[in-house]
Amino acid sequence: MSTTVGLKIWHPFTQTHLDPEPLQVVRAQGTHLYTADGHQIIDAISSWWVNLHGHCHPRIANAVAAQAGKLDHVLLAGFSHPSVEQLTHKLQRIVPSALANVFYSDDGSTAVEIALKLAVQYWQNRGCPGKREIVALEHAYHGDTVGAMSVSADSGFTSPFSRLRFPVHRVHSAYCLRCPVGQKRASCDIDCIESLKNLLEQSSDKLAALIVEPLLQGAGGMITHPREFLERIRALCSEHNVLLIADEVLTGFGRCGKMFACNMAGVVPDLMCLSKGITGGFLPLGATLCTDAIHQEFTGEGRSFFHGHSYTGNPLACAAAVANLEIFETEDVFARIDAIAVQHAERLPRLANHPRVAEVRQIGSIAAIELKADDAGYFSTLKPRLYGFFLERGVLLRPLGHVIYILPPYCISRDDIHYVYEVIEEALENVG
Ligand code: PLP
Repeated sequence: MSTTVGLKIWHPFTQTHLDPEPLQVVRAQGTHLYTADGHQIIDAISSWWVNLHGHCHPRIANAVAAQAGKLDHVLLAGFSHPSVEQLTHKLQRIVPSALANVFYSDDGSTAVEIALKLAVQYWQNRGCPGKREIVALEHAYHGDTVGAMSVSADSGFTSPFSRLRFPVHRVHSAYCLRCPVGQKRASCDIDCIESLKNLLEQSSDKLAALIVEPLLQGAGGMITHPREFLERIRALCSEHNVLLIADEVLTGFGRCGKMFACNMAGVVPDLMCLSKGITGGFLPLGATLCTDAIHQEFTGEGRSFFHGHSYTGNPLACAAAVANLEIFETEDVFARIDAIAVQHAERLPRLANHPRVAEVRQIGSIAAIELKADDAGYFSTLKPRLYGFFLERGVLLRPLGHVIYILPPYCISRDDIHYVYEVIEEALENVG
């Protein structure tokens, strides 16, 4: 927290009054942030994974400006507006057709809260009130509000709130480097799925839904899962009548190489949470999609979903999202994503053989380098040292503890990716 007198900005994740002063960013363009003191920084993590096509993309900036002159905001209860209608029309063209209903909210955490509440009330409305418990994965992260935090893994982030969090059933994640059942990926049969299978066989009458970050657990350490793991989750949930919630807040909008990670495994969830990249990184917006089968349980007297945030379907955010999706429609965004993926694939093998590296992972435009560390985990002492080293060299990378990851805007140049890798290689030689 800043120590000046008066109202102080409480910056996320500050630990002591000795934390460095926050960097003042006065401008951003494309992949670069520009500071008040004249430095240029490569935003290699898309500003917490929100930016897609580059900062201040003129198409999105113009759309927001135009919308601001027409309609700033109107409540969505009993009202609608062209901006939210257009967005819904465009989303419909890219989401699985079975997800025919969308509930808008503010951010990733609210999109998750809504999915959890819908799942629980769905079973209640169907006359199965006993089905109200949630299954989540080890290493999961779904947000910082109380429900989202409950389904996130136990960690230093959540421990002060253990009494507030509702209990969930926790099943294995397919974290192959640290296999929870002691197998090797080359020879395993996704044996880690057994913990979910056993739970479903014993308790499905109590279970409302399972929530998963499909193919990639982000904040838990950029852990990539085999596609078969997600396929098996889908099959088991269907078999045991448990709803599947796909949290695509991070993985959505092309990050993993297709529009949604679920597409890569041919999986259609019952509910899907979107946010972050939905507006191209301009404005906060959440969306929770669900099937008609779920939606129809909420029609009729006394069956409503009583949930609505003030800014639900905000016209400015929707205008940004429409412009974002128009960029996908009119430009070859996936060629850019593929080019980033190719460059990761060229550079990562060199790092994989480094004696300090435990494993390298990649999915689409995202690369992760897990380091060997005695204090592995989010609070690894490597993190602040690496973070400072990268920033001094003009690169914004915020390792998740001992895991360095690159998650750039899709407009990043080949030279900038090259530079980011050079700086990481330099760090491995110099940061103890
Ligand atoms: N779900 C996932 C998979 C996330 O990665 C995040 C944020 O990192 C969230 C939900 C929460 O999103 P927000 O920070 O917008 O509330």
